[in-house]
Amino acid sequence: MDLRKLIRDIPDYPKEGILFFDITPLLGDAEGFRKAIDLLAERFAEAKATKIVAAEARGFIFGAALAYKMGLGFVPVRKPGKLPYKTKSVSYDLEYGSDTLCMHEDALLRGEKVLVIDDLLATGGTLSGVIDLVEAFGAEIAGIGVVIELSFLNGKEQLHSYGCESILQIA
Ligand code: 5GP
Repeated sequence: MDLRKLIRDIPDYPKEGILFFDITPLLGDAEGFRKAIDLLAERFAEAKATKIVAAEARGFIFGAALAYKMGLGFVPVRKPGKLPYKTKSVSYDLEYGSDTLCMHEDALLRGEKVLVIDDLLATGGTLSGVIDLVEAFGAEIAGIGVVIELSFLNGKEQLHSYGCESILQIA
């Protein structure tokens, strides 16, 4: 099964000049969605992680399914104001401006091994922010995984030398 065929290319979204890779056809395809999760699970079979950390919104979809498949806990990373309990946060730079990511302050233990999952690696800004947040807890990154890597953007360089497993690479 060619998972690339389940990714729809949308020109000029969310703004002119941007080519957006839409994952909803993959999500809607039972076999394709399961395959993406199974492939990610294989990559991290030896990681000995206890939790998966993923950012809203699309990261939740793959992160939660993978946590279920691998028998791990799931920790949501959200934008400010969305989590009900006390939070720890990091701010990170975007092309224009900056953004903030939050996690509940008791979400991770010092030394705990976690997998960080997202749907897509573009510039690496989002995953780099999530890594900073995980490290702020003194937790250990056991692996980073995405379904799609836009390799032409070299986002891996932003990932603090952790590397990133990807199921599909778009060059
Ligand atoms: P980065 O921070 O690496 O530049 O962008 C990756 C983040 O933005 C991911 O959380 C992802 O959900 C979202 N994103 C950026 N571009 C795309 C895209 O073309 N398709 C999808 N599905 N998500 C994207």
